[in-house]
Amino acid sequence: MALATQTFDALVIGGGGAGLRASLQLASSGLKVAVISKVFPTRSHTVAAQGGIAAALGNVADDKWLWHMYDTIKGSDYLGDQDAIEFMCRNAAAAIYELEHFGMPFDRLENGKIFQRPFGGMTQNFGEKAISRTCAVADRTGHAMLHTLYQRNVQSNTQFFVEWLALDLLKDADGDVLGVLALEIETGEIHCLRAKATMLATGGAGRIFKASTNAFINTGDGLGMAARANIPLQDMEFWQFHPTGVLNAGVLITEGVRGEGGYLVNSEGERFMQRYAPNARDLASRDVVSRAIATEIKAGRGVGKNKDAVYLKLDHLGEALINSKLPGIREIAKTFANVDPVKDPIPIVPTAHYMMGGIPTNLHGQVVVPNADGGESVVNGLYAVGECACVSVHGANRLGSNSLLDLVVFGRAAGDKMVEEVKKDNTHKPLPADASDKTLARLNRLETQTQGERVKDVGAALRETMQTHCGVFRFPELLQSGVAAISQVAERAKNTVIKDKSQVFNTARVDALELDNLVEVALATMHAAEARTESRGAHAREDFGQRDDENWLKHSLYYRENNRLAYKPVRLKPLTVETFPLKVRTY
Ligand SMILES: Cc1cc2nc3c(=O)[nH]c(=O)nc-3n(C[C@H](O)[C@H](O)[C@H](O)COP(=O)(O)OP(=O)(O)OC[C@H]3O[C@@H](n4cnc5c(N)ncnc54)[C@H](O)[C@@H]3O)c2cc1C
Repeated sequence: MALATQTFDALVIGGGGAGLRASLQLASSGLKVAVISKVFPTRSHTVAAQGGIAAALGNVADDKWLWHMYDTIKGSDYLGDQDAIEFMCRNAAAAIYELEHFGMPFDRLENGKIFQRPFGGMTQNFGEKAISRTCAVADRTGHAMLHTLYQRNVQSNTQFFVEWLALDLLKDADGDVLGVLALEIETGEIHCLRAKATMLATGGAGRIFKASTNAFINTGDGLGMAARANIPLQDMEFWQFHPTGVLNAGVLITEGVRGEGGYLVNSEGERFMQRYAPNARDLASRDVVSRAIATEIKAGRGVGKNKDAVYLKLDHLGEALINSKLPGIREIAKTFANVDPVKDPIPIVPTAHYMMGGIPTNLHGQVVVPNADGGESVVNGLYAVGECACVSVHGANRLGSNSLLDLVVFGRAAGDKMVEEVKKDNTHKPLPADASDKTLARLNRLETQTQGERVKDVGAALRETMQTHCGVFRFPELLQSGVAAISQVAERAKNTVIKDKSQVFNTARVDALELDNLVEVALATMHAAEARTESRGAHAREDFGQRDDENWLKHSLYYRENNRLAYKPVRLKPLTVETFPLKVRTY
């Protein structure tokens, strides 16, 4: 069957902050560029980002990008690549001013400069004291950023394919990427989209966990597509659990609340963070705070009916400040926790939030894979940026407000590289006749299978398995049994059935196709976590409590075939400054 085909210079899969920053670079250089998004672009998860975006502007206190770099390396528990971290921190201020000039309505200080608030792990003078480095638009920073970027893309004539689901990469025998196959969700039609450069900017995959701050659309589609194209996934054992998700609902309460002076208390009314992080206290790095909360709950000092939460207290900040700086948080607390934080504390628990791992790339967003000579090669025609990528600036633990920065800095850099590569050669490589066969077979199974399990049930089993076996603390027996349990889930996913094919808008088909991607992400996470016998950043093992630099200062690479794991060194040499030596990480 001949598929409907359209041809572009460049394709961007994903209309979140990363995709839109890249597409803007492409469209404004005059290329024919298309953005494919399974939801309307301004509904991407970037819209939910609350607290802000980091840059050493020095508007509140003296600041330097080198201090930001140090904090990010320490926050990453030394697993971040120091060249990439330097690139991001050095380009941060320019990225903020660029957003400002695009029209992003940043909050202001009295003197008219951009407002900045403290965030966890961000310090002055290499850890001396906390600093205000995070620029914000109240508690709706992502919303402002995404709308700004969308409007700029409209102005630059980016072509949008809205509510289209990318299914798989199209490749030739050399392994070069030539575009994607996509499902037009409304009609159910399959399209072949060809391009000289294809970018994955599909965001996170927090929906592999039962309790998650992520949107329902965060199903790791780009990672699934990469894994099925034999591209390894890097550092997938590292998942950030945000300390403050609303109990039972999982909805996020930004770290900005603690930045503005909110703090945590246990059932005894104690500010327990003083015991776990004497200096940074409530603004220690996220992995540290999440583990402290989990430990308090385990010790019986939890609050609420089941004693399975702690309180986040902010009533002392006063109604005026809450209304001006944290209006969205007041709304969330009322809606999801049934408390008004002006008077009462909010019950919170650590909740899956951010994926540090992803598709391995270099500083230009080009996807890189190990080659036979022991080095790395670029996958021609394929790029990745944003949460689905691993460049790696976040290493084993991301600092809050560094992700929005990662999107715009590397979105722009990758966009520039794509322009350069596309302009080199005006031809499109021929597409092999069998390039879409595997994907069409996957779709065909969904159409023809009449007996089997419901997608919903298998998805629930997947989330339950990940939550139980691979959470804030990781136990050896649970990881081992988790590997077996998640393999079973993966087998079950091959035997799902769409009972009601007449369902409006093909939502059942989309759910089934997303489940395939969740399975790839969950397998990679469980296998990589089981293998890493140390504790580093967000990966906290009960049986190996310490960081083990001698054996484990390396990135993991998970290959889908036979669940194989390989490792590669961390790039410890920055671009222009001295290496930051490894230290014990305390806050
Ligand atoms: C609640 C919340 C609050 C946060 N707050 C902050 C914060 O204050 N500061 C900070 O730095 N970070 C924050 N983060 C993290 C940060 O927001 C995200 O890491 C970042 O926005 C991800 O951006 P992205 O462009 O990579 O992906 P997203 O914004 O998730 O966009 C992904 C895009 O890919 C598209 N897509 C996915 N799959 C397909 C497919 N198969 N076919 C077609 N399109 C597809 C989607 O439609 C979407 O357009 C927060 C995260 C959450 C969940």
